[in-house]
Amino acid sequence: VVELGQAEHSVVTTCAYCGVGCSFKAEMKGETVVRMVPNKNGQANMGHSCVKGRFAWGYATHSDRITKPMIRKKITDPWQEVSWEEAIDYAASELKRIQANYGRGAVGGITSSRCTNEETYLVQKLVRAAFGNNNVDTCARVCHSPTGYGLKVTMGESAGTQTFESVLHSDVIFVIGANPTDGHPVFGSIMKRRLRAGAKLIVADPRRIDLVKSPHVKADYHLQLRPGSNVALVTSMAHVIVTEGLLNESFIQERCDLESYEIWKKFVAREENSPEAMEAVTGVPADVLRGAARLFATGGNAAIYYGLGVTEHAQGSTTVIGIANLAMATGNIGRKGVGVNPLRGQNNVQGACDMGSFPHELPGYRHVSDATARALFEAEWGVSLEGEPGLRIPNMFDAALEGTYKAMYVQGEDIVQSDPNTQHTTEALENLECLIVQDLFLNETAKYAHVFLPGSSFLEKDGTFTNAERRISRVTKVMKPLAGYADWEATQLLANALGYPMNYKHPSEIMDEIARLTPTFHGVSFDLIDRLGSVQWPCNAEAPEGTPTMHIDEFVRGKGKFAPTRYVASDERVTQKFPLILTTGRILSQYNVGAQTRRTANNAWHSEDRLELHPHDAEDRGIKDGDWVGIQSRAGETVLRATITERMQPGVVYTTFHFPESGANVITTDSSDWATNCPEYKVTAVQVLPVSQP
Ligand code: SF4
Repeated sequence: VVELGQAEHSVVTTCAYCGVGCSFKAEMKGETVVRMVPNKNGQANMGHSCVKGRFAWGYATHSDRITKPMIRKKITDPWQEVSWEEAIDYAASELKRIQANYGRGAVGGITSSRCTNEETYLVQKLVRAAFGNNNVDTCARVCHSPTGYGLKVTMGESAGTQTFESVLHSDVIFVIGANPTDGHPVFGSIMKRRLRAGAKLIVADPRRIDLVKSPHVKADYHLQLRPGSNVALVTSMAHVIVTEGLLNESFIQERCDLESYEIWKKFVAREENSPEAMEAVTGVPADVLRGAARLFATGGNAAIYYGLGVTEHAQGSTTVIGIANLAMATGNIGRKGVGVNPLRGQNNVQGACDMGSFPHELPGYRHVSDATARALFEAEWGVSLEGEPGLRIPNMFDAALEGTYKAMYVQGEDIVQSDPNTQHTTEALENLECLIVQDLFLNETAKYAHVFLPGSSFLEKDGTFTNAERRISRVTKVMKPLAGYADWEATQLLANALGYPMNYKHPSEIMDEIARLTPTFHGVSFDLIDRLGSVQWPCNAEAPEGTPTMHIDEFVRGKGKFAPTRYVASDERVTQKFPLILTTGRILSQYNVGAQTRRTANNAWHSEDRLELHPHDAEDRGIKDGDWVGIQSRAGETVLRATITERMQPGVVYTTFHFPESGANVITTDSSDWATNCPEYKVTAVQVLPVSQP
């Protein structure tokens, strides 16, 4: 234990938790972190922080850390500690054997949104250049892949349009499917500052989240919709805007694709898309929805903030498109105070997507079928590249079960705990002949691994993270990697053992390569980031110090494109057997699968996942607060303790997914977004009944 106040020096770095990307000073005594102090000059956080970034960094040196590589022939064998050389040689020989036996496409990799840009870039390069295929995907698949799709189609760039500071210029703030005070606390408090100063607030959420009513902040409209009805809600808002003449015609005529606009306008004006017609779907009274739509269209600068409550649906991509339609139709794009702003869950979701972690896109969102882009990478990497998209994560699982996909390298993601329908995931992993897991801890996925490579925390490496504002910030090494190598160095060892040379001396050289190959990053370097404090891409000759606001004079795609958003009911419908809808989310003190926060003092504040349900649903079932309840879905069943709360609406239940033993994803199903396969975590039909303590 190091006492407070003993720091000898401090080092500026970036929080490893959420997509706000707060800047911190790690106060150090030798190589030991004494405390993390929010950086007053931090451009994302302006000197603020939350309980995760400020206090929950102790996991980095937790005794559960695995610091020796390990191998085993079968997953039922005990682990055997080996040298790095032996582990890497074994992994490489297995990958070569499997490709010789089953073909080049039988292997793949998954990058992590918790790793740096440079590390995710290297993993996708390893897969494309050394494995020789496009079977690379990222955990963004299961969170914001619909954002990448929806914003690219409508505006031309897979990213949010603003800075966080922009919200201080908003007159109307529309929060849909996001809970910023728990999920993105520092941005949540910046937003609350603006609300206290008089901005209006519309919240669309099935739960009565804190923003709806908390001290000093009250939503003007709470659209308490049924889970799965986002598309109906945004389309009926558009109906009001179109049919009541609230469109910003001059913006549309000047900035948007008019052919798509006319098609969209005709579609949304149909009576079937009116708030009255959609009321039975959304559960939101038509007059309330009409009021919210009018406020959004006429209240001044209107900004939309959304999260996984939008994307993690069978129609996630459609809702993102619908949100972009609303912003374009009302001219709320291209200046401060407006825009479309995805709140990214993990610290480097934006970066992992930017770095080409998807099976269809090279770094900078260039499709693998684009021969010109491919030629650029081929010249730099010295290989010829596949022009066909590879496997997405769910396709990898399906191919593993079919026997055509045999080996996988997973860096920094616990797919068993975080992906839906756990039974399906584990059956697929059991079918692999070689699973290589690189992580800080022996996580749930490692139970199915043959090679374990120790990972490194954000304190043990140099690099960059890109937050939800497209802001690239430095991650600074304050201590040597506990296992001897940072994650990027381990990837490099594996590439070299496979016969593909990688010889970077420092992550800045990797960023230099990214900048050479990626037009939106042409001007980015560690030197520039260190000089400016951070930089928002695009950063290139046209924008040498970055781009705080996107689409100012024209959209990245030229003209903004509208698209009709037809509501389709989820396959996860309530029945007599499964009469409730389960939705999931996060809580302030914990983070995602909890691997980090569960190993810190934050665990004392929230030490179990609970099932929240409305008093009526509890009474119907004879459930009292704190009782154990069984939750059954079409995929599986689990047991949790109940919290009875009026935050919930009748018919809807809710849980978090921070603890492996709670098995939240044992009950979520394979239902997924039509465009991107992002799982529909937010809509699962379930039954809940009292059970005795497990
Ligand atoms: Fe870290 Fe997000 Fe909290 Fe900032 S708001 S300290 S980035 S968890």
